[in-house]
Amino acid sequence: MTKILIVEDEAGLVTLLKYNLEKQGYDTAVVMDGKDVMTTALVEKPDLILLDWMLPGVPGIDLCRDIRKTYELRSTPIIMLTARGEEADKVRGLSYGADDYMTKPFSVPELMARIAALLRRAMPQPVEENLSFADITMDFAKRRVLRGDKQIHLGPTEFRLLQFLMEKPGDVLSRENLLKSVWGGSIHVELRTVDVHIRRLRCALGEPDIIRTVRSAGYALDLNASEEGES
Ligand code: CA
Repeated sequence: MTKILIVEDEAGLVTLLKYNLEKQGYDTAVVMDGKDVMTTALVEKPDLILLDWMLPGVPGIDLCRDIRKTYELRSTPIIMLTARGEEADKVRGLSYGADDYMTKPFSVPELMARIAALLRRAMPQPVEENLSFADITMDFAKRRVLRGDKQIHLGPTEFRLLQFLMEKPGDVLSRENLLKSVWGGSIHVELRTVDVHIRRLRCALGEPDIIRTVRSAGYALDLNASEEGES
């Protein structure tokens, strides 16, 4: 059964989320205090985490980082729940490892659609062969990425993004195209979200850079990307 960890300190919102998630057939676990998140997440092993950004105890941004740094949880999708007017926090949250965000008050059906989309994306893709480009190898059976001998840790969104780029090496892929392929066409995600995740992917892959930014066009895998002087 798919389990969702609800990290939220407002009791009313916890009740609403729990009710709706269970109605959809998900199993749920709840944490209301920031300092209990990591221990509960390690025990419950959720398939997805709904993370309130304004939490007593530990700020959402620190939790996001801790979740991504923890081996057992590094691939668990995170949806941040932010209050209105925390626009800058959304981008920071995405750059610290969240996969999506919703602004409160949010529509429950939209949240359910985003959860479903993110879970679909996090499932291992049925690809028979490994993909490789330069010194990078994607092993789908083990859901592992290697650069040379070094293992690269990617969150689910970066993994899908890299997969899509590696399926079309050299092709310039527009942000719209990447959004549609990686995030799915049914949900609304801002184009700059693509840039944030590309930045995270680049950072995780390290030097030399193999993702070329094509101004006003998109991104491409390119062996000479680091010589372009663009970013
Ligand atoms: Ca809160």
